[in-house]
Amino acid sequence: MLEILQIPVWRDNYAYLARCTATDTVACVDSPEAGPILEALAERGWSLDLLLNTHHHPDHIGANKVLKEKTGCRIVGSCHDPERIPGIDRQVDEGDVVQVGEQHARVLFIPGHTRGHIAYHFEQAQAVFSGDTLFVAGCGRLFEGTAEQLWSSFQKLMALPPETKIYGAHEYTLSNIRFALSVDPDNLALRVLEVQAQALRETKQPTVPSTLAQELQTNPFLRVDRSEIAQAMDMPGAPPAQVLAELRARKDTF
Ligand code: ZN
Ligand code: FE
Repeated sequence: MLEILQIPVWRDNYAYLARCTATDTVACVDSPEAGPILEALAERGWSLDLLLNTHHHPDHIGANKVLKEKTGCRIVGSCHDPERIPGIDRQVDEGDVVQVGEQHARVLFIPGHTRGHIAYHFEQAQAVFSGDTLFVAGCGRLFEGTAEQLWSSFQKLMALPPETKIYGAHEYTLSNIRFALSVDPDNLALRVLEVQAQALRETKQPTVPSTLAQELQTNPFLRVDRSEIAQAMDMPGAPPAQVLAELRARKDTF
Protein backbone atom coordinates (compact mmCIF):
# COMPACT_ATOMS: atom_id res chain seq x y z
CA MET A 1 0.00 0.00 0.00
CA LEU A 2 0.97 3.61 -0.42
CA GLU A 3 0.31 5.67 2.69
CA ILE A 4 0.05 9.38 1.90
CA LEU A 5 0.57 12.03 4.53
CA GLN A 6 -0.40 15.61 3.72
CA ILE A 7 1.71 18.29 5.37
CA PRO A 8 0.35 21.85 5.33
CA VAL A 9 3.16 24.39 5.08
CA TRP A 10 2.82 28.15 5.42
CA ARG A 11 -0.44 29.71 4.28
CA ASP A 12 -1.48 27.37 1.52
CA ASN A 13 1.27 24.97 0.44
CA TYR A 14 1.11 21.21 0.77
CA ALA A 15 4.09 18.88 0.92
CA TYR A 16 3.42 15.15 0.92
CA LEU A 17 5.06 12.06 2.32
CA ALA A 18 4.28 8.89 0.38
CA ARG A 19 5.32 5.66 2.08
CA CYS A 20 5.34 2.13 0.74
CA THR A 21 4.01 0.25 3.74
CA ALA A 22 5.45 -3.08 2.57
CA THR A 23 9.06 -1.87 2.53
CA ASP A 24 8.90 1.27 4.70
CA THR A 25 10.31 3.31 1.84
CA VAL A 26 9.40 7.01 2.09
CA ALA A 27 9.28 9.68 -0.60
CA CYS A 28 8.56 13.35 -0.07
CA VAL A 29 6.86 15.30 -2.85
CA ASP A 30 8.18 18.88 -2.98
CA SER A 31 10.03 20.69 -0.22
CA PRO A 32 8.67 24.12 0.69
CA GLU A 33 10.24 24.09 4.16
CA ALA A 34 12.33 21.52 6.04
CA GLY A 35 10.91 21.94 9.56
CA PRO A 36 7.38 20.55 9.12
CA ILE A 37 8.64 17.72 6.90
CA LEU A 38 11.39 16.66 9.34
CA GLU A 39 8.90 16.84 12.22
CA ALA A 40 6.40 14.65 10.40
CA LEU A 41 9.13 12.11 9.68
CA ALA A 42 10.41 12.15 13.27
CA GLU A 43 6.92 11.80 14.78
CA ARG A 44 6.41 8.59 12.86
CA GLY A 45 9.96 7.26 13.03
CA TRP A 46 10.21 7.34 9.24
CA SER A 47 13.41 8.01 7.33
CA LEU A 48 13.35 9.83 4.02
CA ASP A 49 14.64 7.90 1.01
CA LEU A 50 13.55 10.07 -1.91
CA LEU A 51 12.54 13.64 -2.66
CA LEU A 52 10.42 14.05 -5.77
CA ASN A 53 10.25 17.59 -7.13
CA THR A 54 7.46 18.70 -9.47
CA HIS A 55 9.09 21.97 -10.56
CA HIS A 56 11.71 24.54 -9.66
CA HIS A 57 9.72 27.25 -7.84
CA PRO A 58 11.08 28.15 -4.38
CA ASP A 59 7.98 26.87 -2.56
CA HIS A 60 8.67 23.43 -4.08
CA ILE A 61 12.47 23.09 -3.92
CA GLY A 62 13.32 25.48 -1.07
CA ALA A 63 14.32 22.78 1.42
CA ASN A 64 16.01 20.39 -1.04
CA LYS A 65 19.52 21.02 0.27
CA VAL A 66 18.61 20.85 3.95
CA LEU A 67 16.56 17.67 3.53
CA LYS A 68 19.38 16.02 1.58
CA GLU A 69 21.94 17.00 4.22
CA LYS A 70 19.80 15.83 7.13
CA THR A 71 18.35 12.64 5.64
CA GLY A 72 20.63 11.61 2.78
CA CYS A 73 17.62 11.36 0.47
CA ARG A 74 18.07 11.06 -3.30
CA ILE A 75 16.51 13.90 -5.25
CA VAL A 76 14.49 13.25 -8.40
CA GLY A 77 13.45 16.05 -10.73
CA SER A 78 12.70 17.04 -14.31
CA CYS A 79 15.31 16.41 -17.02
CA HIS A 80 13.94 19.55 -18.66
CA ASP A 81 15.10 21.70 -15.74
CA PRO A 82 18.06 20.09 -13.91
CA GLU A 83 19.94 23.36 -13.38
CA ARG A 84 17.04 24.75 -11.34
CA ILE A 85 16.50 21.68 -9.11
CA PRO A 86 19.04 21.95 -6.24
CA GLY A 87 20.83 18.69 -5.41
CA ILE A 88 19.22 16.72 -8.23
CA ASP A 89 20.53 13.12 -8.43
CA ARG A 90 18.23 11.64 -11.05
CA GLN A 91 16.72 13.42 -14.03
CA VAL A 92 13.42 12.00 -15.25
CA ASP A 93 11.25 12.48 -18.30
CA GLU A 94 7.82 11.46 -19.59
CA GLY A 95 7.27 7.74 -19.09
CA ASP A 96 10.13 7.18 -16.67
CA VAL A 97 9.31 5.15 -13.57
CA VAL A 98 10.36 6.05 -10.04
CA GLN A 99 10.27 3.14 -7.59
CA VAL A 100 9.17 3.89 -4.03
CA GLY A 101 9.65 0.48 -2.49
CA GLU A 102 7.12 -1.76 -4.22
CA GLN A 103 5.09 1.18 -5.49
CA HIS A 104 5.95 2.86 -8.74
CA ALA A 105 5.30 6.33 -10.03
CA ARG A 106 5.20 7.07 -13.72
CA VAL A 107 6.42 10.51 -14.70
CA LEU A 108 4.21 12.79 -16.79
CA PHE A 109 5.86 15.78 -18.48
CA ILE A 110 3.30 18.56 -18.07
CA PRO A 111 4.86 21.92 -19.04
CA GLY A 112 2.94 25.22 -18.97
CA HIS A 113 3.23 26.56 -15.43
CA THR A 114 6.99 26.14 -15.89
CA ARG A 115 8.86 24.73 -18.87
CA GLY A 116 10.06 21.69 -16.93
CA HIS A 117 7.04 20.81 -14.78
CA ILE A 118 6.41 17.09 -14.15
CA ALA A 119 3.82 15.05 -12.26
CA TYR A 120 4.21 11.69 -10.53
CA HIS A 121 1.45 9.15 -11.13
CA PHE A 122 1.35 6.27 -8.63
CA GLU A 123 -0.62 3.78 -10.69
CA GLN A 124 -1.46 1.11 -8.08
CA ALA A 125 -2.33 3.78 -5.50
CA GLN A 126 -4.38 5.77 -8.06
CA ALA A 127 -2.80 9.04 -7.02
CA VAL A 128 -1.13 11.77 -9.02
CA PHE A 129 0.98 14.57 -7.57
CA SER A 130 0.23 17.45 -9.91
CA GLY A 131 2.33 20.23 -8.35
CA ASP A 132 1.18 23.66 -9.50
CA THR A 133 -0.31 22.45 -12.79
CA LEU A 134 -3.69 21.23 -11.59
CA PHE A 135 -5.50 22.33 -8.44
CA VAL A 136 -8.98 21.65 -7.14
CA ALA A 137 -11.25 23.68 -9.46
CA GLY A 138 -8.31 25.58 -10.92
CA CYS A 139 -4.80 25.51 -12.33
CA GLY A 140 -1.45 27.24 -11.92
CA ARG A 141 -0.47 30.36 -13.79
CA LEU A 142 1.08 30.14 -17.23
CA PHE A 143 4.53 31.44 -16.35
CA GLU A 144 6.78 29.79 -18.89
CA GLY A 145 4.68 27.86 -21.36
CA THR A 146 2.00 28.41 -23.95
CA ALA A 147 -1.69 27.66 -23.57
CA GLU A 148 -1.22 24.94 -26.22
CA GLN A 149 1.40 23.25 -24.03
CA LEU A 150 -0.77 23.53 -20.94
CA TRP A 151 -3.77 22.12 -22.77
CA SER A 152 -1.78 19.09 -23.91
CA SER A 153 -0.48 18.70 -20.34
CA PHE A 154 -4.08 18.72 -19.09
CA GLN A 155 -5.01 16.12 -21.67
CA LYS A 156 -2.36 13.78 -20.25
CA LEU A 157 -3.87 14.18 -16.79
CA MET A 158 -7.42 13.83 -18.14
CA ALA A 159 -6.47 10.49 -19.68
CA LEU A 160 -5.78 8.96 -16.25
CA PRO A 161 -8.48 6.78 -14.69
CA PRO A 162 -11.33 8.98 -13.36
CA GLU A 163 -10.94 7.66 -9.80
CA THR A 164 -7.35 8.97 -9.67
CA LYS A 165 -6.83 11.26 -6.70
CA ILE A 166 -5.31 14.64 -7.58
CA TYR A 167 -2.79 15.86 -5.02
CA GLY A 168 -2.05 19.45 -5.96
CA ALA A 169 0.48 21.57 -4.11
CA HIS A 170 -1.77 24.40 -2.88
CA GLU A 171 -5.00 24.97 -0.96
CA TYR A 172 -6.53 27.46 -3.40
CA THR A 173 -9.90 25.76 -3.67
CA LEU A 174 -12.28 28.42 -2.34
CA SER A 175 -10.91 31.22 -4.51
CA ASN A 176 -10.74 28.85 -7.49
CA ILE A 177 -14.42 27.99 -7.01
CA ARG A 178 -15.38 31.66 -6.83
CA PHE A 179 -13.74 32.24 -10.22
CA ALA A 180 -15.11 28.99 -11.68
CA LEU A 181 -18.67 29.96 -10.75
CA SER A 182 -18.20 33.36 -12.39
CA VAL A 183 -17.66 31.63 -15.75
CA ASP A 184 -19.79 28.49 -15.23
CA PRO A 185 -22.65 29.64 -12.97
CA ASP A 186 -25.09 26.90 -13.98
CA ASN A 187 -22.75 24.04 -13.09
CA LEU A 188 -24.59 22.15 -10.34
CA ALA A 189 -21.59 19.98 -9.40
CA LEU A 190 -19.61 23.16 -8.86
CA ARG A 191 -22.30 24.56 -6.54
CA VAL A 192 -22.25 21.34 -4.53
CA LEU A 193 -18.45 21.47 -4.38
CA GLU A 194 -18.61 25.06 -3.09
CA VAL A 195 -20.77 24.04 -0.14
CA GLN A 196 -18.56 21.04 0.67
CA ALA A 197 -15.33 23.03 0.39
CA GLN A 198 -16.63 25.86 2.57
CA ALA A 199 -17.58 23.38 5.28
CA LEU A 200 -14.14 21.77 5.16
CA ARG A 201 -12.29 25.08 5.31
CA GLU A 202 -14.40 26.35 8.20
CA THR A 203 -12.87 23.57 10.28
CA LYS A 204 -9.44 24.05 8.65
CA GLN A 205 -9.58 20.70 6.88
CA PRO A 206 -7.95 20.27 3.47
CA THR A 207 -10.11 20.20 0.34
CA VAL A 208 -7.21 18.44 -1.40
CA PRO A 209 -7.07 15.79 -2.82
CA SER A 210 -9.96 15.70 -5.23
CA THR A 211 -10.49 13.12 -7.94
CA LEU A 212 -10.09 13.42 -11.67
CA ALA A 213 -13.80 12.63 -12.03
CA GLN A 214 -14.62 15.64 -9.83
CA GLU A 215 -12.27 17.91 -11.78
CA LEU A 216 -13.74 16.83 -15.11
CA GLN A 217 -17.15 17.95 -13.84
CA THR A 218 -16.17 21.15 -12.07
CA ASN A 219 -12.80 22.55 -13.17
CA PRO A 220 -13.35 25.13 -15.94
CA PHE A 221 -9.72 24.81 -17.09
CA LEU A 222 -10.31 21.14 -17.99
CA ARG A 223 -13.59 22.09 -19.66
CA VAL A 224 -12.33 24.62 -22.23
CA ASP A 225 -13.44 22.21 -24.96
CA ARG A 226 -17.06 22.61 -23.78
CA SER A 227 -19.37 25.02 -25.52
CA GLU A 228 -20.51 26.64 -22.24
CA ILE A 229 -16.95 27.68 -21.33
CA ALA A 230 -16.14 28.92 -24.84
CA GLN A 231 -19.44 30.81 -24.78
CA ALA A 232 -18.57 32.43 -21.44
CA MET A 233 -15.30 33.67 -22.98
CA ASP A 234 -17.27 35.06 -25.98
CA MET A 235 -15.32 32.60 -28.15
CA PRO A 236 -17.87 30.10 -29.46
CA GLY A 237 -16.19 27.53 -31.72
CA ALA A 238 -12.66 28.57 -30.79
CA PRO A 239 -10.01 25.85 -30.27
CA PRO A 240 -9.69 24.71 -26.62
CA ALA A 241 -6.17 26.11 -26.21
CA GLN A 242 -7.36 29.58 -27.24
CA VAL A 243 -10.24 29.41 -24.79
CA LEU A 244 -7.78 28.24 -22.13
CA ALA A 245 -5.50 31.23 -22.80
CA GLU A 246 -8.40 33.63 -22.36
CA LEU A 247 -9.73 31.85 -19.26
CA ARG A 248 -6.30 31.86 -17.60
CA ALA A 249 -5.80 35.54 -18.47
CA ARG A 250 -9.13 36.40 -16.84
CA LYS A 251 -8.24 34.41 -13.73
CA ASP A 252 -4.95 36.34 -13.49
CA THR A 253 -6.88 39.56 -12.94
CA PHE A 254 -9.97 38.17 -11.17
ZN1 ZN B 1 4.90 26.97 -8.87
FE1 FE C 1 3.68 26.66 -5.77
